[in-house]
Amino acid sequence: MTEDFTIGGYETLLRALDERGYVSCRYQDVVPARRNVILRHDIDFSPSFALAQAEVEAAQGMCASYFFLTNTPFYEITSDEIRSVLRSLKALGHEVALHFDAALYPDDRDILDREVNRECAILEDLIAEPVEVISFHRPAKSLLNCPDSIAGRFHTYQPKFFTDIGYCSDSRGLWRYGPPLDHSAIQEGRAIQLLTHPIWWAHKTARTREAVLADFVRGRDASICEAIAETITGYDPKTGVITDPQKID
Ligand SMILES: [Zn+2]
Repeated sequence: MTEDFTIGGYETLLRALDERGYVSCRYQDVVPARRNVILRHDIDFSPSFALAQAEVEAAQGMCASYFFLTNTPFYEITSDEIRSVLRSLKALGHEVALHFDAALYPDDRDILDREVNRECAILEDLIAEPVEVISFHRPAKSLLNCPDSIAGRFHTYQPKFFTDIGYCSDSRGLWRYGPPLDHSAIQEGRAIQLLTHPIWWAHKTARTREAVLADFVRGRDASICEAIAETITGYDPKTGVITDPQKID
């Protein structure tokens, strides 16, 4: 059941958590001995995938934290499209936070603090409120289970969110630590952080991970072709042919 990586499968998973007495909470409110679930989403690809999960969560009265990159080849955080996604997430009652690509910088705490502050400022400007927590994209090993806050903010790999409570992730489109309902934390009624990446869940029917990524590439190609058509008169985004205007003598 929880192997079903579709939007319906996600809905079923949330319902199963609810039936086991789990309530969603934010990082700062988690109580390790309680049936608390922190729903985390790292937005590695298109933010538009996020809304499917966000709507399912809101319909079940759950809140989640959505982590956005500000420096990625996959989306432009200040674009109108992303601003609209950010607004929708807030309207549904979810948290918007920073997904920080630690691999872009040296593994140096002063540099990390400075760059996290700089990237948080970009996001804070967009959402008009403070960013309180960050998650790391491609973290150095030294950041995993690191107890220190970063730039004065919580991070999702602090022991209190990572090893003091359960942790379950769908990395690379698979349950890396086994399906969440089989996790010892859930079996024992303890708190858990559940990380899911929206790209694996946004579709209605089950697909291979390769098919999901191929669709993403096709979608990107199509939107680039549309953008070219807005730049080059006569370019057909479907065929790639440029038709020059007929000369009028
Ligand atoms: Zn990531």
